[in-house]
Amino acid sequence: MTLNTPTSSLSVIETRRIISALITQINEEVRTKNGGLQSETIALENAVNRILAEDLLSPMHVPNADNSAMDGYAFQGHVNEAAHAGQKKLKIVGTAFAGKPFLGQLGAHECIKIMTGALMPAGCDTVIPQERITEIISNAAHENELLFPANAVRVGENRRLRGEDLRLGQVAIPAGRILRPSDLGLAASLGIKTLSVRNKIRVAIISSGNELRSLGQALDTGSVYDSNRYSLIGLLTRLNLEIIDCGIVQDDPVALKKAFCAATLKADVLISSGGVSVGEADFTKQVLQELGDIGFWQIAMRPGRPMAFGVLKPLADAANSPEAKNSTLFFGLPGNPVAVMVTFYQFVRAALLQLNGATQTAVPTIQVRSGEAIRKKPGRTEFQRGIVTLDDAGQATVRTTGSQGAGILRSMSEANCFIVLPAEQGNIQVGDLVNVEIFEGLL
Ligand code: AMP
Ligand code: MG
Repeated sequence: MTLNTPTSSLSVIETRRIISALITQINEEVRTKNGGLQSETIALENAVNRILAEDLLSPMHVPNADNSAMDGYAFQGHVNEAAHAGQKKLKIVGTAFAGKPFLGQLGAHECIKIMTGALMPAGCDTVIPQERITEIISNAAHENELLFPANAVRVGENRRLRGEDLRLGQVAIPAGRILRPSDLGLAASLGIKTLSVRNKIRVAIISSGNELRSLGQALDTGSVYDSNRYSLIGLLTRLNLEIIDCGIVQDDPVALKKAFCAATLKADVLISSGGVSVGEADFTKQVLQELGDIGFWQIAMRPGRPMAFGVLKPLADAANSPEAKNSTLFFGLPGNPVAVMVTFYQFVRAALLQLNGATQTAVPTIQVRSGEAIRKKPGRTEFQRGIVTLDDAGQATVRTTGSQGAGILRSMSEANCFIVLPAEQGNIQVGDLVNVEIFEGLL
């Protein structure tokens, strides 16, 4: 793929499509060269947020035998005998606990007391829940009999069937799943102690700009602390990837080239911030174009209009060394601190996941009423920072965090969502539905 820099700007959707196609191509290259993405086997307890490398097949039926879904009484519901005045009467002949089954045979007019999870006795197919019992009668022989309305339960109710959750050999968790707590529990329920997961991809980060200072240095006039590297470290930590921190590089072609080359040797992905906006793009372009196939794009979005991405090729001498590796995916994000985070969430996050073999990469969007009028000019997709709140009636409303400048990092810190306003959208009125991407996920 040759990434020519277009003259007109790209839409957000088109940008995602191009990046995704690029990664499909890189993954194909990895497959041909190395026989596939690398994976490792790890203990189940360390697997959260890792990406499952192969389909996990169920080694058994789940549940492995029919059992009761309720506390109640198990009986042969299929035996169709006349009820007396609409009531069914059964003799209680035993008890089954989870882990301590009832091993006897039941007659047509008999039942046992059964706890949730206990095995269904042979021949029994129905459980009448405890709370639907009319009466328990003790007769002269000190036998207990159960009385309940015949229509209080249908045949087969309140029984969990062998294999109803998963059948032996069925895919329990598909390859490409970003493992969640529920997946760990599911694997454990199948007796599985280790999982095959994708190796963590290595992501190098670099900040570029003469004005940037490292933490601990004094700030002279006109300089700013390098915050982008820390936002990126946070974002990458959430994705559970390996981070290679390459520090700050000056706006100098020699220094930039040296830093980029060093990073590509070690990393599967290089993310830089700064140096791609109009004033500086030519300079970075010159360096990058010697190193690979990189496009400099104008994206119809706000914030985050300029962005570079493409692939950096291994240098000729490095290509033959034992360290020879595949192409490095490159993202040159804009320098503004909010733009870095927005472009990361909108493009880089999904790209890293796809590169690492994940199948679900999209961020879910929900619709929420706007609690305020929002000014918006048609033309670019805007990612405004918002705060969703719930009122006492449970109704969600979203407001912006106020001033939306691309350098106002506090807006990201205070926000709990992006308000996504599509390119063609104009002004928003109070009460209009808007699309929202929530930052925090439950699972
Ligand atoms: P640039 O894209 O290099 O023109 O930078 C745009 C704005 O973002 C400028 O105000 C930069 O000072 C600021 N900026 C660039 N990189 C960083 C960084 N790593 N941390 C904080 N601010 C930055
Ligand atoms: Mg700069």
